[in-house]
Amino acid sequence: MKQKLTQKRVLFPLLTLLSLSLVLMLCLVGCRTTAYEVYVNGKQVCVVKDAGEFQNKLHKVCQEQAKATGHPVNVKDELKFKRVLVNEKAILADAQVAKIIARELKLVTTGAAIVVDGKPVVVVSSESKAKEVLERLKKGYTGCESGEKLVSAEFEQKVEINQKTVSTDKIVSPDQALQILQTGTDSPTIYEVKEGDSLWLIARRHDTHVVDIVAANKLKSERLQLGQKLAISTTSPYVDVVTVVEGTREEKIPYKTRVEVDRKSSSVKVKQAGKEGRKQVTYRLTCKNGSTVDKNILSENIIEKAVDRVIVKGERIVVASRGSGRSSGTLSWPIYGRITSSYGSRGGSHKGIDIGAKTGTAIRAADGGTVRFAGWSGGYGKMVEIAHGNGVVTRYAHCSKLLVSKGSKVSKGQVIAHVGSTGRSTGPHLHFEVINGGRHNNPLGYLK
Ligand SMILES: [Zn+2]
Repeated sequence: MKQKLTQKRVLFPLLTLLSLSLVLMLCLVGCRTTAYEVYVNGKQVCVVKDAGEFQNKLHKVCQEQAKATGHPVNVKDELKFKRVLVNEKAILADAQVAKIIARELKLVTTGAAIVVDGKPVVVVSSESKAKEVLERLKKGYTGCESGEKLVSAEFEQKVEINQKTVSTDKIVSPDQALQILQTGTDSPTIYEVKEGDSLWLIARRHDTHVVDIVAANKLKSERLQLGQKLAISTTSPYVDVVTVVEGTREEKIPYKTRVEVDRKSSSVKVKQAGKEGRKQVTYRLTCKNGSTVDKNILSENIIEKAVDRVIVKGERIVVASRGSGRSSGTLSWPIYGRITSSYGSRGGSHKGIDIGAKTGTAIRAADGGTVRFAGWSGGYGKMVEIAHGNGVVTRYAHCSKLLVSKGSKVSKGQVIAHVGSTGRSTGPHLHFEVINGGRHNNPLGYLK
């Protein structure tokens, strides 16, 4: 009886201990599980359930990117797995695996780098894509007007295509590559044209150049529309396209005015009306990114000669008495020469006629009258203004020397100034205006 009691006393705690450890073990097995720690270049990045599955997923990502780029994609980093027992909660959810791959692993591929003057600028997926980008870049500037043909289109810089191993995220699309090569950036500022803007003002405000804005936006003219959107980059193109174009164009030949003096006559007559001629001009244009940088005339063929306007002028008019201040009612030519710019040219802004002549040529008063102004007048340079009565005023601009002063009485044909190129003028000529009743008129309608 005593024996039995002792047995019972020992057995009971033993069983309790056994069942307790069983519960503990069950608990341990139930809560902790085998998994794999993932190491990238020796650094642990996550824990996954299955190392094989992780590698499959990585392989799939590589395959997808390879399909997109057309080249094998490899993992550049060292990848290692370590088998561990972990709590279920520490295991990365399947949906998160792709994110970790994108963030922690560097995938590399072979791309085609466009190298400008020895410096890789952009990388596209393949050599054929790089070639396509360079073709498009050239083609953007090879449009010709009718009657013109493209002679050559070259890059100003040395441009090459090289194979390059790069991170897959460094590969850009052909469109992006084109933009970067053309403007020097892939994110230009977009500017909307406002009232009163001009290309020059916009360029100044953005610290860039008109030619770069013209090139980046392929503008055909410098005229802007309100609300027009312009891509503006403060960087210059990586590659400049130089094109040479040859063309033929028909141009007008202006007629000359010749004067014959008739000693017996006291009148002015037009003996022969002038007629413009025509010529075929062959030229060569050199353009950089679409802007003309050089123009050469290769040949000129006259199709139809110009016919001189011949005026017969009585000598007595030329030697009319000085300083009478009297008006004859008609205007005579202040100088004789070729009309280099007609009335209303330059889009209507030209308020007179330009008569070409050498510096120092005598300018004669078109009619008798009183000098209303003689001096410097802004863009007109040295100028004389004569009032002839009946509201008729004549102006003689860009003179080199003035021979009359305000208040002088002058007679028709009197030398009042010398031809020059003062003020806004590109060469010696007389700018001659006729104002009647406060309005500009075409001088040719008055000159006899
Ligand atoms: Zn003028």
